[in-house]
Amino acid sequence: MHAIRVSTLGGPGVLEPADLPDPEPGDGEALVEVAAIGVNYIDTYFRTGIYPTALPFVPGLEGGGTVRAVGPGVTSVAPGDRVTWTNTLGSYATLATVPAAELAAVPDALDLETATAVVLQGMTAHYLVHDTHPVAPGDAVLVHAGAGGMGLLLCQMARAAGAFVIATTSSEEKDALARGAGAHETLRYGPDPDDLAERVRALTDGEGVAVVYDGVGRATFDASLASLRVRGVLALYGAASGPVPPVDPQRLNSGGSLYLTRPSLHWHVRTPEALAARADAVFSAVATGELDVRVGGRYPLDAAADAHRDLESRRTTGKLLLQP
Ligand code: NDP
Repeated sequence: MHAIRVSTLGGPGVLEPADLPDPEPGDGEALVEVAAIGVNYIDTYFRTGIYPTALPFVPGLEGGGTVRAVGPGVTSVAPGDRVTWTNTLGSYATLATVPAAELAAVPDALDLETATAVVLQGMTAHYLVHDTHPVAPGDAVLVHAGAGGMGLLLCQMARAAGAFVIATTSSEEKDALARGAGAHETLRYGPDPDDLAERVRALTDGEGVAVVYDGVGRATFDASLASLRVRGVLALYGAASGPVPPVDPQRLNSGGSLYLTRPSLHWHVRTPEALAARADAVFSAVATGELDVRVGGRYPLDAAADAHRDLESRRTTGKLLLQP
């Protein structure tokens, strides 16, 4: 098979094309012919070693394709089935072996590229908006990086749940995309956390927001805490600008009995039933047109390094895909 391999940790240049032996499906696994590969910010954490894993490895957690063969004990999928996955390293390749329990079936109404483009970020936005803080009509919410892959989905889902949506972005082009996805207001981050929080309060009658969805991390954390209303929730779900330093819990008290959580998709799709329900909810929303998926960039598999460079330099919007 053809793949991208990481043999040393580092910048995008460590993502090297390689020809590797075709994998065989083991117990409980399916062998999938990969049709589309999702690029996610977490792929950069693996590439740099923020999330340690054994070297060498084929990166990428998200993909979609058609089952070619199944290993012993697999009854939930069969050759020919169209599937996606979100939690198995090895997706930057033309073939992938994935535990059958981690596969989500793709409905007939969706093509494999669209399903792959939305499955990981869509399920993440879904749990953030419906479980981490169940958004209620009238809630004010703040979505950082509102034009990113996650941001565009969060804006749409929060708006659909009846929220007043404020999004941060770094450019006018991104403002327009976030507004198109449902943001009522857009703000620039600015260098001063207090200033951003004041602008958020000015848009919320001085109250602050019920929830901040923060996947930016280090650069926005202070502003996020300061933007919350009393008993508001900071959902710190990523660290595109770097990890957040340790926090004194007393800050949650002085801020107004605030809640801080660091959630992850894995814990929200732990069983095949939970995965199927969450994937079905997202795929159905796409199929009916309630949820729009913006593919902001398609790259040949061998150009994975370019995709990472673009993502990390804030040049991208929406979802990035690699084409095997
Ligand atoms: P995005 O498409 O959102 O790209 C990252 C965006 O973050 C940039 O476009 C940029 O938008 C913004 N940003 C702000 N500061 C920086 C910085 N210093 N360096 C880079 N980007 C910056 O990526 P994804 O949608 O793939 O992921 C977004 C976040 O969601 C990541 O932190 C990721 O780890 C997290 N995530 C978490 C999951 C979970 O379950 N916990 C699951 C999926 C994703 P702008 O220019 O507008 O500021």
